[in-house]
Amino acid sequence: MRNQKQRDSKQKRPKRIFRQKKCRFCVDKIHSIDYKDVTSLRKSLTEKGKILPRRITGTCAKHQRQLSTAIKRARYMAFVAYIVD
Ligand SMILES: [Zn+2]
Repeated sequence: MRNQKQRDSKQKRPKRIFRQKKCRFCVDKIHSIDYKDVTSLRKSLTEKGKILPRRITGTCAKHQRQLSTAIKRARYMAFVAYIVD
């Protein structure tokens, strides 16, 4: 009974995050990601403040690496929150 209920609640998830096919940093021709550019960094974070994975955002490996360091730096500088409750 309980398991059935849990499964049902899990299946009801039509919500999907918008998928971009191309890396948006490559499209904008950004060579280095600025950690002070909070508005751009926020787009790559979930509502909980986690970094969105590459398979969702479509960011290329090079930019994803830069992005993660930029976000970590921004967190340290308190531009972006570590965890949003
Ligand atoms: Zn890129």
